[in-house]
Amino acid sequence: MPDLPVAELLTLDRRHVWHPYGPMPGRQEPLVVESASGVRLRLADGSGELVDGMSSWWSAIHGYNHPVLNEAAREQLARMSHVMFGGLTHEPAVRLAKRLVDISPEGLEHVFLADSGSVSVEVAVKMCLQYWRSLGRPAKRRLLTWRGGYHGDTWQPMSVCDPEGGMHELWQGVLPRQVFADPPPAGYEESYAEHLRELVERHADELAAVIVEPVVQGAGGMRFHSPAYLRVLREACDAHDVLLVFDEIATGFGRTGALFAAGHAGVTPDVMCVGKALTGGYLTMAATLCTGRVAEGISRGEVPVLAHGPTFMGNPLAAAVACASIDLLLGQDWQTEVKRIEAGLREGLAPAARTEGVRDVRVLGAIGVVQLDHEVDMRAATRAAVREGVWLRPFRDLVYTMPPYVTGDADVARIARAVCAAAREG
Ligand code: PLP
Repeated sequence: MPDLPVAELLTLDRRHVWHPYGPMPGRQEPLVVESASGVRLRLADGSGELVDGMSSWWSAIHGYNHPVLNEAAREQLARMSHVMFGGLTHEPAVRLAKRLVDISPEGLEHVFLADSGSVSVEVAVKMCLQYWRSLGRPAKRRLLTWRGGYHGDTWQPMSVCDPEGGMHELWQGVLPRQVFADPPPAGYEESYAEHLRELVERHADELAAVIVEPVVQGAGGMRFHSPAYLRVLREACDAHDVLLVFDEIATGFGRTGALFAAGHAGVTPDVMCVGKALTGGYLTMAATLCTGRVAEGISRGEVPVLAHGPTFMGNPLAAAVACASIDLLLGQDWQTEVKRIEAGLREGLAPAARTEGVRDVRVLGAIGVVQLDHEVDMRAATRAAVREGVWLRPFRDLVYTMPPYVTGDADVARIARAVCAAAREG
């Protein structure tokens, strides 16, 4: 396939290609990436390389073009790239399910292999609603979450995203009506814990589940909160017969310094969603895990099956790469790497705290956030980062980074400089 000249490619892109949250025809000027290796993206316009401060939206934890992941994909490709999962099974999917059960919080036993994070949240919600329906309590069909979250772009996930000023504000009034708690404070406050308990108790008869992003609210605002609230939710859910769902799609596989953020609190949810870094960012795959209680409840119902089965469910290529990615992560001292990045970001982002227009600087694991007191000028902020040789994607009032875990110290410092520059100029 001959390479298109960059100018022609951009013209065609603008005319025909939707980008995330983009207009059509496009008015954006995306950078064209020719290839990616390690932590670097090579641009097609000949201007050089950018250090990736985004891990392709939290997913490329091992960087790009990794020989181990490449080999896993090649090997599996030679055997079978895809086969339907209805009535058939295969080793990559079975291995992956077993691996996920082994490394997840104790008690999660069953795995649904979905094809994107949003779908895994849809499946989680379906599991919870069907569980209560099977038990003869169909009125338990609402969800409780806290404001400021983000769970994806399909229907049920959109209904539990931040309802005010969030990405799905357009759809308020049309989406299923859920129950919202206030956003969780950063530190532990007993009055907030009481607010959560009170809401769960008050709505218990209509609640199928509480669903939250544990410890870090990602795309809804990059906020961190005390893990103690997860224990509060676990106790309240147990006391009032409500299921608990943790959406670990952004936080899973070490991003916050624990393998899963639930580990900060030592809590097992009834249902857990993972995605993004599951395949090291190579292929689209996510998973919904549930306990034996949930699966058995569903199996006792009038319709004893979980009625969900996407065409690409259990894709062998993605499953093989996911197994290799998990092995790669666990086969190294990843905690030390994440701590190293955390220390580098703390040091490198400290100057931002003294910058005019900066409201807050926060770092947790391999996540660094600078929050402004105004809406960021995305163009100016991105330009400032690119000038420093770094790829960032600021949004709303945030300039943030989640670099791959293989980012070396000099590149972590460079990313931090770029975040500071973007915060100054954006
Ligand atoms: N849940 C969380 C916490 C996320 O951060 C995201 C994506 O950013 C999703 C769900 C949706 O995942 P996907 O974009 O793969 O559909």
